[in-house]
Amino acid sequence: MTKKSPKILLIYTGGTIGMIKDYETGALKAFDFDQLLERIPELSQLDCEIETISFERPIDSSNMNTSYWVKIAGIIEAHYDHFDGFVVLHGSDTMSYTASALSFMLENLAKPVILTGSQLPIGDLRTDAKENLITSIQIAGLQERGRPKICEVCLYFEYKLYRGNRTTKINAEHFEAFASLNYPPLAESGVHLKVYDEYLLQPNRRKKLQVHYQLEDNISLIKLFPGINESTMRCIMLADHVKAFVLETFGAGNAPTQEWFLQLIKEANLQGKIIINVTQCSGGSVNMGQYETSESLKRLGVISGKDITTEAALAKLMYLMGAEVGAKVFKTIYETPLRGEMSQN
Ligand code: ASP
Repeated sequence: MTKKSPKILLIYTGGTIGMIKDYETGALKAFDFDQLLERIPELSQLDCEIETISFERPIDSSNMNTSYWVKIAGIIEAHYDHFDGFVVLHGSDTMSYTASALSFMLENLAKPVILTGSQLPIGDLRTDAKENLITSIQIAGLQERGRPKICEVCLYFEYKLYRGNRTTKINAEHFEAFASLNYPPLAESGVHLKVYDEYLLQPNRRKKLQVHYQLEDNISLIKLFPGINESTMRCIMLADHVKAFVLETFGAGNAPTQEWFLQLIKEANLQGKIIINVTQCSGGSVNMGQYETSESLKRLGVISGKDITTEAALAKLMYLMGAEVGAKVFKTIYETPLRGEMSQN
């Protein structure tokens, strides 16, 4: 029996990767993804069948929002049975947020969803777009015993494949624009494409893909800084429409111990607001109770984000609140890794 080539769906949402330079005018213009093979003939060397879908109006990823996440998840669900893998082309600015959101929205995912983009447009002489695109497609087509090898939402950039919900954009101009400080890369591309099997999420293939479209966006993010005052905190924490917020604290989850600050946490609690503690350090974990300055947060029932990224913390909050998870179990569920976004302990 002849082996069938994997079918990959390329979803173009926008961003620098989709641009080419008009050499007459020097201006950047959108690239017609239907002509992908013509523009990047190297793609025909890949043993894959590639189809493309493009947003009607591609966006700069600074305009990304929950409606676009619903749209991307909808495209994946509609084509799930007909493709072996998905590559989402996305601006790099908010790619980690989208990767995190999709990871929660796509429950029981048993196929790869690889997000990629580039720092330079595809038509630029020194572009990083071609390598990012070609290797992402190659990774999305990896099979083992006739089934997709990678079964999670990933982000591929500059020779490294990461778990998407573990990434953060760390550089606005280097080709190495992303980092995953609390989880190792899932694969590295050099002379060989090396996949680190031990770090991959194992899917439960008996369960069907379930796509969650309800996301709660009445949430907020507060980054603490020395000198933040009560009025500012009160405005954000106790705003009527804010149902939950992520508090970016210092170091291992530490916050001021002043009475006004703890009083605000108590008031927010009384109003039924959910509070997640994440660290503003790029790596490492929240450990409430390690210092006196986090002991009170622990006592007041603040939820630990452990070693989650801020991007994934926000996405997980939107997803669990959208799913209307009850107040009694919210803390336990939030503190449990659902898609490999945080460590067990
Ligand atoms: N501003 C662009 C975007 O995020 C940058 C990029 O594509 O990398 O859409």
